[in-house]
Amino acid sequence: MQAGMIGLGAMGVGMASNLAQAGFLQGVYNRTQHKAETWAQTLACRHYATISELAADCNVVFLCVSADVDVLEVVEQIQQAAKPGTIVVDMSTVSVDTARQAAAKLAEKQIAFLDAPVSGGVEGAKNAKLVMMVGGDEAVLDKVRPLLMAMSQRIAYMGPTGSGQATKAVNQIMAAGINQAVSEALIFGQTQGLDMDKVIDVISGGAAGNWFLQHRGPTMIKNSFKPGFKVALHHKDLTICRQMAEQKQLTLPLLEKTLQDYQDLIAQGFGEEDISALYRLKKNLE
Ligand code: NAP
Repeated sequence: MQAGMIGLGAMGVGMASNLAQAGFLQGVYNRTQHKAETWAQTLACRHYATISELAADCNVVFLCVSADVDVLEVVEQIQQAAKPGTIVVDMSTVSVDTARQAAAKLAEKQIAFLDAPVSGGVEGAKNAKLVMMVGGDEAVLDKVRPLLMAMSQRIAYMGPTGSGQATKAVNQIMAAGINQAVSEALIFGQTQGLDMDKVIDVISGGAAGNWFLQHRGPTMIKNSFKPGFKVALHHKDLTICRQMAEQKQLTLPLLEKTLQDYQDLIAQGFGEEDISALYRLKKNLE
């Protein structure tokens, strides 16, 4: 199988590198072309100047772009150019509705679609340790499983189209709560005059330990918020989660608080920082 990768952002670069290492990567496309040219050289694969050329040439098309509108734009172009039987795998985080729209659009041309959002951060993408939550036809998943395994430590089939994105929404709400808890607890720790590197190390080994504390705690306490996962992207995800909750008459306080905090960070010019920048707001509690 010959795969093409669309979107060489913080996540896409690691994904493409692992596909290349496993011998699956035919070529890459990125909206900002120079990134694709540079990475195509590094990964010894083709650089496609357009999505259409990539889609016509590859029988598996991966994408990892920012938001719903971007996925739909890219899918539109794939649909025009890809051959029937092509499999499109979207690893972006978007809404269930977008996944369904993309699948329906592609089905018009007998092109299969899987929604396959991921968890594990840029480290997971780089080290092939992503956890993938997949929606769509399980038989299609089985066909591309070897390619997904080149990028992931775990692949879970969740059900029909949109189930992967619905599972990821659960993950994003949990991530909001973890960010609130970790940033608030670390500010509290600092006020106690503790050696915070030691605090993070010992707590990481106990019942309150978690991925975010381990990977973002050490930089957070040094006021370093390089992404990682951008505030603006998590804000986009939580807006999707809020819409899904509203459809079920649910109001989620942690989600609302985090959305408000992220809006404040974005208004202050920190939307492109890592979500651990929430620590900036907690510092105002001192
Ligand atoms: P990123 O670094 O901002 O990269 C976004 C990529 O999408 C770039 O390559 C960008 O191209 C491309 N893109 C955006 N709009 C496009 C469009 N309309 N047409 C074509 N290409 C477009 O974002 P990221 O962190 O890699 O995240 C990508 C997706 O994965 C998002 O949905 C995010 O929620 C999800 N995700 C992120 C993480 C994380 O830790 N970062 C973890 C799990 C899931 P340019 O280079 O031209 O801007």
